[in-house]
Amino acid sequence: MSKSPLLKVILLGDGGVGKSSLMNRYVTSKFDSHLLHTIGVEFLNKELEVDGRRVTLQIWDTAGQERFRSLRTPFYRGSDCCLLTFSVDDGQSFSNLSNWKKEFAYYADVKDPDRFPFVVLGNKLDVPERQVSGEDARQWCRENGGHPYFETSAKEATNVGSAFEEAVRRVLAADDGADRLVHANTVNLQRKSAPDSTCC
Ligand code: GDP
Repeated sequence: MSKSPLLKVILLGDGGVGKSSLMNRYVTSKFDSHLLHTIGVEFLNKELEVDGRRVTLQIWDTAGQERFRSLRTPFYRGSDCCLLTFSVDDGQSFSNLSNWKKEFAYYADVKDPDRFPFVVLGNKLDVPERQVSGEDARQWCRENGGHPYFETSAKEATNVGSAFEEAVRRVLAADDGADRLVHANTVNLQRKSAPDSTCC
């Protein structure tokens, strides 16, 4: 049986917005990200089917920001999709989205960031004290390339699956599009086969 294509997705955003928790929630259906941080997990794989197409998502976390910063290029390169993540109770993390997008485009060598499959996540939807409204977030997405926007809660498992499925849809649509610009992911577009193991 042929293996499903491997899509590399990277979660970026300020420390503490819930990147590890989102990855953990999606892959293991658990909330506590402490274990991932402690053992330094860098990615988790998950197989899924979207619109009848089976893929393996390889989800990269950037936990341990300090260690990670010196490794940006190998982490970013070859990503098929970037999940730009902020926390709705932290306005600063929302303001920093543009920086994360620029940084990703620079280190991943993406020629046209507005045509790259970014998906924006406003996490911690369950927290009552919001600093960022859904409308402000949607407006930012409209003005910065028309990226899809999801409000998620890793804690309460709200919208997490939908967000990752949309990421897959965006990647597949971009690959199917005849006019997709070739970016640094060319090697990834040849679609590595998914390894059998689930994690590093
Ligand atoms: P990271 O640094 O972006 O990977 O963030 P973590 O996943 O380590 O989460 C940082 C803190 O926010 C932890 O205390 C998590 O338990 C908490 N957290 C993560 N996601 C949520 C969420 O959806 N709701 C709430 N209330 N807390 C969350």
